[in-house]
Amino acid sequence: MIKVSGLNKKFKNYQALNDISFSVRRGEVVSIIGPSGSGKSTLLRSLNLLVKPDSGQLTIGDETVDAASLSHRNTTRFRRQSAMVFQHYNLFKNKTALENISEVLIYGRGYRRDEARDRGMELLTSVGLAHKADAWPITLSGGQQQRVGIARALSLEPEALLLDEPTSSLDPELRRDILNLIASLAERSLTMLIVTHEMKFARDISQRIFFMEQGRILEQGAPDVLFDPVTENRAHRFLHEFA
Ligand code: ADP
Ligand code: MG
Repeated sequence: MIKVSGLNKKFKNYQALNDISFSVRRGEVVSIIGPSGSGKSTLLRSLNLLVKPDSGQLTIGDETVDAASLSHRNTTRFRRQSAMVFQHYNLFKNKTALENISEVLIYGRGYRRDEARDRGMELLTSVGLAHKADAWPITLSGGQQQRVGIARALSLEPEALLLDEPTSSLDPELRRDILNLIASLAERSLTMLIVTHEMKFARDISQRIFFMEQGRILEQGAPDVLFDPVTENRAHRFLHEFA
């Protein structure tokens, strides 16, 4: 479903992504962990071409792009393959919860206004927020805003969902809520890449965990292997410090 090979990204002199290669199967859930600044966000953003890679090939679903030959046309097509969920929700502040979804469908996917509204309501209902359709983002709790963010991402019917620290801005009591929602998506066999510091969550829902450091995937494996105390490696020491 996702295939990355030879992905590199430099910011000025800093190699934020250093020759990254991996594949993710359809329906697989992969959590990405690692210290701050290790390139986790840059990796996700590269997959959505929010960051333009310096080199490498990316495949999501049946679309492939080469960083060396990005055009407006293939960038737009490739972006449609995935959708992002952000730490700070990134909702349009001057649009209601419903409009945050429906406008994306109208302008991004060519829906008619009434269709977009119906689909938006369906999605808000699915994340338990039908009653907040006309609310402004600022009047919603962080957890509710993130639900809208997730509903909006799902509205795009992406082949892969990319979540960048989806619970890091939330109070601990609201985190569980969003983690449960994400876990329910995992059960529906959505292909997901999740950057997270929630180690227990990562362990529970992921088929694989990637440990990143200094722009590289240093370790990867099934949670049981990576979390096994017998496995003495950098990832394990990191997990220990964190968990
Ligand atoms: P993480 O998400 O793991 O904390 P990031 O992917 O955000 O790490 O960042 C990796 C490195 O790239 C960091 O050193 C960061 O400062 C740098 N970086 C990220 N985005 C930019 C940018 N737009 N311009 C310059 N440097 C950046
Ligand atoms: Mg980050």
